[in-house]
Amino acid sequence: MTIETAAMKTLQIHADYMMYEPLRREGSVYEEVDPSVREFRDIVVLFTCVEEDDDEDIVSSLARQVAASLERLGVENLLIYPYAHLSNRLAPPQRALHLLKLLEDESLKLGLKVHRAPFGWNKKFTLSIKGHPLAEQFRSVTRESLQVTAAKAPAEATLHQVEAEGRETLHVQLGRELDLFSINPALGSGFPLFHDKGWIIREELITLVRESNKAMGFKEVWTPHVFKSDIWYKTGHYEHYRDRMFTLVAKGEEYVVKPMNCPAHAMIFASRPRSYRDLPIMLSEFGTVYRNEQPGELTGLLRVRSITQDDGHVFARPDQVEGIIIMILRESLKILNTTIRGNIYATLSTRPEKFIGDPQVWEKATEALRGALERAGLSYEIKAGEGAFYGPKIDIDVEDSLGRRWQCTTVQLDFFLPERLGLEYVDSDGSKKRPIMIHRAILGSIERFIGILLEHYNWRLPFWLSPIQVAVLPVSTRNLKYAEQAKNRLEAEGIRTELMAEGTLEKRVRSAHQSRASFMMIVGDEEERSGTCSLRDYRGHTARGLSLEKVVVWLKNLYKERVKNVGEIDESLSRLTQ
Ligand SMILES: [Zn+2]
Repeated sequence: MTIETAAMKTLQIHADYMMYEPLRREGSVYEEVDPSVREFRDIVVLFTCVEEDDDEDIVSSLARQVAASLERLGVENLLIYPYAHLSNRLAPPQRALHLLKLLEDESLKLGLKVHRAPFGWNKKFTLSIKGHPLAEQFRSVTRESLQVTAAKAPAEATLHQVEAEGRETLHVQLGRELDLFSINPALGSGFPLFHDKGWIIREELITLVRESNKAMGFKEVWTPHVFKSDIWYKTGHYEHYRDRMFTLVAKGEEYVVKPMNCPAHAMIFASRPRSYRDLPIMLSEFGTVYRNEQPGELTGLLRVRSITQDDGHVFARPDQVEGIIIMILRESLKILNTTIRGNIYATLSTRPEKFIGDPQVWEKATEALRGALERAGLSYEIKAGEGAFYGPKIDIDVEDSLGRRWQCTTVQLDFFLPERLGLEYVDSDGSKKRPIMIHRAILGSIERFIGILLEHYNWRLPFWLSPIQVAVLPVSTRNLKYAEQAKNRLEAEGIRTELMAEGTLEKRVRSAHQSRASFMMIVGDEEERSGTCSLRDYRGHTARGLSLEKVVVWLKNLYKERVKNVGEIDESLSRLTQ
């Protein structure tokens, strides 16, 4: 049994009786609760301790193990009890609370009746333990193995070995459960199918970048997915990138499914004579490219074979480079702040040992990138000698809520492709010059970025990205018509709304919760009489007696401003009720 490694530690007790009473708050992070006595009978109490390195995967695995264990015990009630005394390597309280809430969510989804004791309180409790062999179990779920150790019940070891199932990345599980996307082996791994709800997230992201492209002066273009192999010989891809390209032969001619959009944009540049006054030419495309990644490297949306880039190419004069890079960096920061908001890490990769072009041009261009980083107010790290052979570049990584870093934005200078493809413009003195080509992507790959977002927001997307923004729930069938009216009103304003009228109200609330709708709008007799509605957030906070029109205005503003509200009723709404 290893307890040293990072792990989520639990002590699971099958109790005849459990009573607890919150006495006083402890520390700065605590939940607002009604400090009354709570009593339970025939319940599994899960004393849970969140440690430093615990993450969502571990929580998911733990929830599945606990659910399987409850099934074997024939118990449906679970009490999650925060219990710091199982470790001296505790996670920071905010994070511990976040993971405990997730454990609650996950357990609910698995069909358990869950109660969670409040976090951040000193509590007294009384416990009466059932005496059977499986009544007390110590569990330690680690990231490395997600292994389970049973301290008091050796018989559990084999049982848990069976339960220890193949892990699935959080966002893939979410993609399936929320009907966002699927990956069908019959169609090929690494080729995700975006369902209607997943398409919504794609489109929202594309719209965001499209607005930004427009503001920067990029013109959007479209280019086909398959080109003759000739161009890939010219660019050198055929020689150096061959094993990652999908190629095909038709009627004796060889074609390549494009692994990048650059040559097509270069050909648009070359399609007519260009003068120094025409520059910069800025082209953008949400172009899907195909790369034959090794099957072993494919993970959900994070590594796929069909990649939609928010691609852009600039053809510029040397004197324009710095200004353009500053503009792109500033827009990138805006977009990353709108979507994720985490720590940002910029790197500047400089000239490698093997390079093409004039060292002086390299020097100037690298200085331009450095100047742009500084003028955009970004601190950065220099990766000396790590640039591509054809030019220096800037990368921006974003840190997600779990402290993982993801590379999103890339701004790459390229002295090579214009040379290879013979791109030129007529300068002010009438001489022909090569433009500098800048490749840029802000989100990088839309697929990958969605994967990152799903993991970052941990099952809940901000309102503006959420496929279901409001679930309308009639309290009883009497209120169905009024609920339909409310739904129509919201939809008329462009708010993505679903009516959930099946089963009991409790079941509807659960469905709405499971669908990850940002908000629930609940309408009963009282609301119908007064022409109002109640709005409930995912934490269960409810605002009552709201005017439907005011709610519409509030929601539209969340959407328009792309507020990072993941379905929480906040003060700005309560102001509307006054
Ligand atoms: Zn490119």
